[in-house]
Amino acid sequence: VTAARQPPYYYPFKHGDAEITVVSDGPLPLGNPAANFVGASPAEIAAMLNRNFLPPDDLVLEQNAAVVKLGSRTMLFETGMGTLKLFGETTGRLLESMKEAGIKPSEIDAVVCSHAHIDHVGGVCDDSGHPYFPNAEVFINEEEFKHWTDESRLNSDFGVQVANARKNLLPVKDRLSFFKDGQEFLPGVQAMAVPGHTMGHHCFIVSSAGKSFCLLGDTTHHQVLLLEKPWMNFAYDADPKLSAKSRIRVLDMVATDRIPVMAYHFAWPGFGHVGRDGDGFRYFPAPMQLLKA
Ligand SMILES: [Zn+2]
Repeated sequence: VTAARQPPYYYPFKHGDAEITVVSDGPLPLGNPAANFVGASPAEIAAMLNRNFLPPDDLVLEQNAAVVKLGSRTMLFETGMGTLKLFGETTGRLLESMKEAGIKPSEIDAVVCSHAHIDHVGGVCDDSGHPYFPNAEVFINEEEFKHWTDESRLNSDFGVQVANARKNLLPVKDRLSFFKDGQEFLPGVQAMAVPGHTMGHHCFIVSSAGKSFCLLGDTTHHQVLLLEKPWMNFAYDADPKLSAKSRIRVLDMVATDRIPVMAYHFAWPGFGHVGRDGDGFRYFPAPMQLLKA
């Protein structure tokens, strides 16, 4: 198999009236899982990964950004790492994936971010402060925006995140729109507060033609670790206890109501269901959906 023969990194499908195209920003390698996930011993984490046929010592998250066409809007959920190579060379391919999918940046009229961490807002603006999506309104929670662009936090432990949020969000300040918990801020798109990972972190429920799906953002970072043991934590959670509580609430909801999820960090392409399994949850990837030409 040569690289040239690999399929492009996008996946179009339909759900209700929504036309969804998953466009990857590329894999985000985190390295040692025990350094990133807390609340279970390193041996236990390695065993969980091993049981699921994943390398126990090299954790990789996907970055499943999604273009959703619904009604008159063309929305991009999450923007990836942009030019920042903090996790290596594999990230930052969002625009390439969109090109492979035949989607022009100028077609995007709404960019929606679950929160202001690097791998979600990193692709809003280029290095000279020009928006990658020239016709897009940018949607985020107001508290989240203020917190992560606060200059006084540049020298904190989260300084890199703050600098990056400022680099990407301040140049589009005049085209920012803020959503609140429960608000339908775009046609068919409702925000749901899921605080803990960051305090202004939100999920999105997209509904059309009697069908819904939930864009999970960073409600859970891994299809095995934070589902089998949902009370575990991700090392970068602002409030780990609240994060776990919020996660379990959302996973309970999508399992009970059988709402499919679009999971930003799950294995490609990240669309499927979450069901209950013992005292945790399990991810069921949706089968390939073949569209008629
Ligand atoms: Zn993330």
